[in-house]
Amino acid sequence: MADPVDILIIGSGASGAAFAWSVAETRMRIVCLEQGDWVKPTDYPARGRDWEARRYADSDIMANRRQLPADYPINDRRSIVKIATYNAVGGGTVHYAAHFPRLHPSDFRVNSLDGVAEDWPIDYRTLEPFFARNDKIMGVAGLPGDPAFPNHAPLLPPIPLGRSGTRAAEAMNRLGWHWWPSDAAIATVEHEGRAPCINLGQCLPGCAQGAKGSTDITYWPLAIRADVELRTHCRVREITIGPDGMASGAIYYDRDGREVFQPAHVVVMAANGIGTPRLLLNSVSGKFPNGLANSSGLVGRNLMLHPWPVVQGWFDDEMDGQRGPIVSLLSKQFYETDPARDFLRGYMLQFGRGPGPVGEAMSGVESGRIPWGDAHHSAMRRYATRRFHVGIACEDLSEEHNRITLDPELADSHAIPAPRIDYTVSDNTARMMEHGIARAAEIMQEAGAHTITCSREVLNYPGHLLGTARMGTNPERSVVNEWGRSHDVRNLFVIDGSVFVTGGGVNPTSTIQAIALYIADKMKQRLDTLFD
Ligand SMILES: Cc1cc2nc3c(=O)[nH]c(=O)nc-3n(C[C@H](O)[C@H](O)[C@H](O)COP(=O)(O)OP(=O)(O)OC[C@H]3O[C@@H](n4cnc5c(N)ncnc54)[C@H](O)[C@@H]3O)c2cc1C
Ligand code: SF4
Repeated sequence: MADPVDILIIGSGASGAAFAWSVAETRMRIVCLEQGDWVKPTDYPARGRDWEARRYADSDIMANRRQLPADYPINDRRSIVKIATYNAVGGGTVHYAAHFPRLHPSDFRVNSLDGVAEDWPIDYRTLEPFFARNDKIMGVAGLPGDPAFPNHAPLLPPIPLGRSGTRAAEAMNRLGWHWWPSDAAIATVEHEGRAPCINLGQCLPGCAQGAKGSTDITYWPLAIRADVELRTHCRVREITIGPDGMASGAIYYDRDGREVFQPAHVVVMAANGIGTPRLLLNSVSGKFPNGLANSSGLVGRNLMLHPWPVVQGWFDDEMDGQRGPIVSLLSKQFYETDPARDFLRGYMLQFGRGPGPVGEAMSGVESGRIPWGDAHHSAMRRYATRRFHVGIACEDLSEEHNRITLDPELADSHAIPAPRIDYTVSDNTARMMEHGIARAAEIMQEAGAHTITCSREVLNYPGHLLGTARMGTNPERSVVNEWGRSHDVRNLFVIDGSVFVTGGGVNPTSTIQAIALYIADKMKQRLDTLFD
């Protein structure tokens, strides 16, 4: 049997990497198990001429279509929002757009303010120093002074608005609505050895330039230098329990398919809002017949996914095409609850550039805008590089029936049951979506679009996986306490997006990482009781 380690982290993505870096200073023996491998920047699609085609193949944002050896299948047939993940060192940050807003202070107090959902046991001010620490290591660009948010100072100059961002901003000025350059974890100038963004193209399938702050190039080199061991190709099947009812380690399959038991004094779950509840539900024992840490019955429940309709607009003149980081600005005009509207809470409008020629052709042919045959080239000239889009990032309130369970039939290549997603959109969210779609269309009209389309049935796949092991002070209403410790198993912690109590209406990774750093800090302050 392997020697026990002090801290065993499951998952090397946004949260696992930040946490590993922070606890490394304790000089304890820390191991992270990751089912994927390192991805080489030289293998990213941006290095080849088929870069856009690969986004529909081995670089697809959805594991179900990608089907790489590190991926596990996800049954999302019963969910209107499909699931985007990436399984490698760096996790979702390898494929994310690096849009880096923070949850608003109000997001932590939704019950007090609006009488729905629940309040968090922590608040924005508690997390503020951890946001700042994280921004520094991820390398965040932006502009201080946003009137819609408590002031903070991103380190690097903001991403240029470009043609599409400028067009959108001018339209918003005429409408009198809030907008601000986005915070983004993208090096706009050289930062900590990272080369600056050169507007190569879209950032999703990995940034070959190394400008995008994914944790394989930010936190992990620092954590490994501080002696954290990162084991790749290790797919965890379950967390084990000792006779004392404490977590005793994890069973995983190594790169040769061998079953290995890794004992540990403390186990930290960082496998994301779907991977973590999947593993907890799969860790069944005599003491925990309904899954580990699940006395509340809430493991897997309260899943929040950010329904994300997208409004597209095409213009007579050239926009940016796919050139530049996807996102350059946002609007919080409709973020907070307004009693004059017919829904509670709100949404962020996120402005993004267009696809490349392949994406334009595929969506054009599918919709009938771009025909095959004689008119094909003139239609491509009319549409390609002449669009931008507005994503409506809707806050979906937590509902217990939106959940993850273990699929009774579908399993991954190691016969571990796949997660099954049941997710519907509430009436409140449906009204919010319609409001956002109408406002986004207004912006497009104001900006002069000649063609405007909107997705309702096929929602964007934001890959925001939240709420399935939420934090709280009441063990009957939450899975972990205010610093991520399981109410049921004292040496088991959850640090990823699962712990979110509400989802807000912004991309979550900045907040996920701030929480991971905050939990690491709490652990470091309590080292004397950690192993009790
Ligand atoms: C296409 C796309 C675009 C996105 N854009 C943005 C954006 O612009 N801004 C933003 O804030 N967020 C964005 N996100 C979301 C962002 O990627 C996630 O919020 C973030 O990565 C979640 O961090 P995490 O630590 O919870 O999990 P992850 O980063 O998903 O890491 C989990 C890790 O655990 C590993 N793992 C899972 N199960 C096991 C197992 N059984 N054994 C071993 N290892 C396991 C996985 O392989 C993975 O590496 C995007 C996501 C996608 C997919
Ligand atoms: S646009 Fe910039 S950040 Fe995005 S992939 Fe290209 S170089 Fe990297």
